[in-house]
Amino acid sequence: MSSEIEKVKVLIIGSGPAGYTAAIYASRAGLNPLLFTGAQPGGQLTITTDVENYPGYPEGIMGPEMMEDFRKQAERFGTQVKYGMVTKVDFSSKPHKVIVDDQKEIHADTIIISTGASAKWLGIESEERLNGKGVSACAVCDGFFFRGQDVAIVGAGDTACEEASYLANICNKVYMLVRKDEMRASQIMQNRVLKNPKIEVMWNTETEEILGQDEVEGVRVFNNKSGEKREIKISGFFVAIGHEPNTSIFKDSITMDENGYILTKPGSTKTNIEGVFACGDAQDHVYRQAVTAAGTGCMAALDAERYLAAQE
Ligand SMILES: Cc1cc2nc3c(=O)[nH]c(=O)nc-3n(C[C@H](O)[C@H](O)[C@H](O)COP(=O)(O)OP(=O)(O)OC[C@H]3O[C@@H](n4cnc5c(N)ncnc54)[C@H](O)[C@@H]3O)c2cc1C
Repeated sequence: MSSEIEKVKVLIIGSGPAGYTAAIYASRAGLNPLLFTGAQPGGQLTITTDVENYPGYPEGIMGPEMMEDFRKQAERFGTQVKYGMVTKVDFSSKPHKVIVDDQKEIHADTIIISTGASAKWLGIESEERLNGKGVSACAVCDGFFFRGQDVAIVGAGDTACEEASYLANICNKVYMLVRKDEMRASQIMQNRVLKNPKIEVMWNTETEEILGQDEVEGVRVFNNKSGEKREIKISGFFVAIGHEPNTSIFKDSITMDENGYILTKPGSTKTNIEGVFACGDAQDHVYRQAVTAAGTGCMAALDAERYLAAQE
């Protein structure tokens, strides 16, 4: 463990839209924030191609390029951006203590958690190969690219039903692949799907392979009861089997819901720990968009600034 302890007013954990937006606001407020990027500098948007729904880019922009813009804007006002992974936290006393890469200790008056979430995937080779080339974990983000076309979606929860209905509004046909002979989703969400003439629910159905070389052209599925295989022509393949918030290091330090999403006080980014704020997908399992993450990042910086002002 390195002996030198760095002290900061604002420490931001994570470099997605939430973290960088918090950094822009905190640095412009003269708080000299320190931001650790984590293992994925730029966050989830660095693994996508076109982003067409972020305001201010009328022609759309590539995800990695957009996140470079976010970083540059945060640095322009004095944010220190460092590559590093927060590996441990201690919020039991003030200032709050954070360990980075199991080595460096930082003491911070306020902490902004913006560690995001990761989509769960099926784990098959073709899914990884065609990721971003027709395979997506976000219907709201990518559904538009497949308007008027046939797509498939995997999942059986409320989110899967919601995304299937969303896709049915813009696509020609939606095959919903459900592993069991029933869904986890609430009855009301199931009814919405089952009544929609554009959605065909395929029960007891699992994905063997997503077909296509450079883009999705189809999917080979099998019925796990009968063993029967079937190839379906589609151009988009959506995975909606859940997300995992990147919050395990805060497990014993902060109040979360049963799925690991950090709980914030309604209308704010305050957590149950004074001086610790949470924003972006780490505390939002509902909207999960870059613009909402950025919005709550802004809120977190303003909440931190007001907290610091009240301490003085
Ligand atoms: C393939 C794909 C396409 C998408 N397309 C769109 C789109 O077109 N439009 C849209 O609005 N949204 C899109 N989204 C959703 C959008 O990317 C997310 O809603 C948004 O990135 C969430 O921002 P965030 O800042 O909360 O977290 P993230 O972007 O998830 O960033 C989390 C950050 O935290 C860091 N981190 C995690 N753990 C630690 C740690 N222990 N220490 C330090 N750092 C840590 C990571 O390295 C990362 O930098 C897409 C998502 C995916 C996966």
